[in-house]
Amino acid sequence: MPDERSVQVAVEALLDEVSTATQPRPLFDAASLRGRVAIVTGGSSGIGRAVALDLARCGCDIAFCYLDSGAKARLDAQDAARRLRETEVRVHFRACDVRDSLDVRRFVAEVLEELGGIHILINNAGISRDQPLWRMEDHEWESVVRTNLDGAFYFTKAVAPTLRAQEYGKIVNVASVHGIRSVFGISNYASSKAGLIGLTQSAAVELGPMNINVNAVAPGYIRTTRLTEGVPLDALDRAREQSALGRLGDPQDVAGVVVFLCSETARHITGAVIPIDGGYLL
Ligand code: NDP
Repeated sequence: MPDERSVQVAVEALLDEVSTATQPRPLFDAASLRGRVAIVTGGSSGIGRAVALDLARCGCDIAFCYLDSGAKARLDAQDAARRLRETEVRVHFRACDVRDSLDVRRFVAEVLEELGGIHILINNAGISRDQPLWRMEDHEWESVVRTNLDGAFYFTKAVAPTLRAQEYGKIVNVASVHGIRSVFGISNYASSKAGLIGLTQSAAVELGPMNINVNAVAPGYIRTTRLTEGVPLDALDRAREQSALGRLGDPQDVAGVVVFLCSETARHITGAVIPIDGGYLL
């Protein structure tokens, strides 16, 4: 017959278990990111820059690449690096064309050497070259598909051995609402982003058993980025009108969701495609 004291201990243990399970947890477990190393492709500008800064604010060391498409791009990269260093994390950055698989492998090796690991990969680098398909030049098709899709494959493949060996990793691909529903004149872009969603799901299946989460975000039109500068104003107005919330997003709207997907709060989410579009796809 158990004595009164042992019954009391058992009851308290049971209560502890129940109350732990029902404890409210913070929506966003930023602490789980401290000391992680994140690679952000295209981290010098727009969405990539906002993501890199948010990850750095959570304590991640950051490696980012950019294309070096001109003097302004170089200045943007230096400015992004300066802003990142202000958050007191380590930063590695240089021009690396995501279409060049050899240089991508070199970049990943440098990050391992300089920052001592890799835990997070954000495949964000992307471009558009809009034309109706009967007028689209082969090089306009190829440059978009190679940047937006091949680039993500090269980086994912290059980091996979490290993530698999440590049985931990978070990959977030920056797709687009146009990978889900297209509009006129973007067959190259829409195909690349639909392909990126396919890559996300395949990678989630193949890397899941090694505790690696692979997800995609699908932003709608995002204000204030270079990519949006090329979109005609009436198309932006139509997008605003079509979205349930009646507004366009900004890079910060995307960054918050990407960082959430990298946190342990999202540990049971993989292979998902999360629209960040103010209800544009509804
Ligand atoms: P930006 O043009 O502001 O930034 C693009 C970044 O990618 C820059 O750092 C650029 O470098 C880099 N980049 C481009 N090509 C390459 C390459 N071949 N190799 C390495 N880096 C490269 O773009 P956004 O912030 O607007 O877009 C970021 C991502 O979000 C893209 O994938 C885009 O498709 C996606 N997206 C954007 C939306 C929007 O409305 N803006 C909506 C939905 C999705 P550099 O500065 O040297 O050119």
